[in-house]
Amino acid sequence: MKNIIFIAPPAAGKGTISDYLVKNYHYEHLSTGDLLRDEVASGSLLGKEIDKIISSGNFVSDELMIQLVAKELDKLRDRPFILDGFPRTIEQAQRLEEMLISLGLTNNVAIYLDIDIDTATKRALGRVVCPNCKRSYNIYNEELKPLRDNICDDCGVFLEKRSDDTEETFKMRFQKYLEKTSPIVDYYEKKNRLAKVRATDDLKTIYNNVILEAKND
Ligand code: AMP
Repeated sequence: MKNIIFIAPPAAGKGTISDYLVKNYHYEHLSTGDLLRDEVASGSLLGKEIDKIISSGNFVSDELMIQLVAKELDKLRDRPFILDGFPRTIEQAQRLEEMLISLGLTNNVAIYLDIDIDTATKRALGRVVCPNCKRSYNIYNEELKPLRDNICDDCGVFLEKRSDDTEETFKMRFQKYLEKTSPIVDYYEKKNRLAKVRATDDLKTIYNNVILEAKND
């Protein structure tokens, strides 16, 4: 299987699809949002700064993100990986390209998850996440509801809402996506490395389409 680079608006389903690929195709999941939230949860000074940025719907600096991802890419071994949440700017995309080439990780596909703002907003407002295993649930989607209200099926701990999943912050995040991240779609398209998947289909169709794109030719 190819390494997957997800390019998508917030709440398009990157995390849910990644969970599926980890469980069924043994992918390594590298979520920059999860890494940042772990830093916030650690209570460090840096975590406090990151918390302010995330909660306001802004982006963490390219410099910090590139450092963080370089460290994680270095740890990767044999399994294919998913980059979820990176790159989010053209600068990040260019630096990623250099890093992947220098590590010999060139069997990649960029998958763009296409979703409209209304559907994405509804998903963000219904999202609850396990603070322990990071699994994401959605109270508005029968397929993604936890079995017991507000409890993680896997860990048995209480689910939490993300601080940036409020209506107001979500608007800001979507705007930021349009301004900073959507140009990356063009970037990969020009390199002939972009696949598009409709993120508003039912889950089974989305999973199948992602797998089709990720399979080696
Ligand atoms: P996510 O879990 O991918 O929705 O990310 C949550 C938040 O973390 C984003 O809204 C940003 O504030 C921050 N973040 C995650 N990845 C990046 C990135 N590659 N560049 C800048 N900020 C990021």
